[in-house]
Amino acid sequence: MMRRLLLCVLPALLLLSGCAAPVDPDEARESIQVIAMDTAMLITTYGERSPAAAYACEDVIRDLEKQLSRTDPDSAVSRLNAAGTLELGELDEELIPILSAAEAYRRETDGAFDITIAPVVAAWGFAGGEEYRVPGEAELQELLERVDGSAVRVEDRTVTLGPGQAIDLGGIAKGYAAGKLTQIFNEYEVPRALAELGGNVLAWGDRPDGTPWRVGVQDPAHPDDRNALVGVLELVDSFAVTSGSYQRYFQQDGKTYHHIIDPATGRPADSGLTSVTVVAGSGAGGAMCDAYSTALFVMGEEKALDFWRSQQGGALFSLVLVTEDGRVVVADKTGQFNFVPEEGSGYTYETVS
Ligand code: ADP
Ligand code: MG
Repeated sequence: MMRRLLLCVLPALLLLSGCAAPVDPDEARESIQVIAMDTAMLITTYGERSPAAAYACEDVIRDLEKQLSRTDPDSAVSRLNAAGTLELGELDEELIPILSAAEAYRRETDGAFDITIAPVVAAWGFAGGEEYRVPGEAELQELLERVDGSAVRVEDRTVTLGPGQAIDLGGIAKGYAAGKLTQIFNEYEVPRALAELGGNVLAWGDRPDGTPWRVGVQDPAHPDDRNALVGVLELVDSFAVTSGSYQRYFQQDGKTYHHIIDPATGRPADSGLTSVTVVAGSGAGGAMCDAYSTALFVMGEEKALDFWRSQQGGALFSLVLVTEDGRVVVADKTGQFNFVPEEGSGYTYETVS
């Protein structure tokens, strides 16, 4: 499973100039691809220590995956789900801050984000391993009785779930990992970097030419065409995390079922949104952006915008919502990014305040 790809190491400056042109140490760069957390991640670091920094990122991601994976039977999460309780060993420590963050986001979002949705996610076949299927209403109601994040207890180093409960960190793990990369970038004095962890982007610093990083927001209507965009985010020192119904889904009897489950119904959220992108400063925490993107997708446009207006969490964030009826709604409070609509996308664009 381990795969480590060296994509590019040569500074372009060296290739272009014949003789001894001074090399800007900032231009030294390393790009690696990491296949982890069920997705292909791409990390590009700049600066003199860029190779060491990139590999340190890979180590952090693999270490987190070992603790948080739902498919690896040896992960802390799998052991907790199997036994209902777990005393965390030294290698499982990351679970403590993640669980406390997840509980805060559950409360803030009125339960739209809830990691104890796990049994329901599994019933639909989205937990990995099982076949996709459409569970019956009685089965869903029975499973929903177990969904209640407030029943998860952490005392000292022991985590205990409520009866029949299981947790699924798929809605927060990649964002949490992206957040941890900021620590690496600080430690290795990385001046600029771009990390894309499957829909979770960390734009660190700016680009070598001093312009912002450009990150596309995919058009949910064309899930298979990575080049089909609703627009481009211009970002400096920011997280941008997208949740979309197009990212994982199956079809049965002409209906499409996706992987973001509304804890109120046990069914794929049918909220009128096709994607939610949450943008926040790199100090805000990728986990927040990840959890919010999932929760706000569940809430739908109106509630998501109310939530955005109230900015309940500690850090400011902004939104790009894509609706089923062909609108792109941009709500910015951070003033930290520019959104450039994609010409000819067919969407209409609105800015709200
Ligand atoms: P992705 O994993 O595609 O980046 P998200 O961040 O939106 O997308 O996370 C979706 C995943 O989160 C699902 O695959 C499932 O594991 C989990 N999940 C689904 N619904 C919820 C929910 N209401 N609250 C918390 N986690 C959820
Ligand atoms: Mg998420």
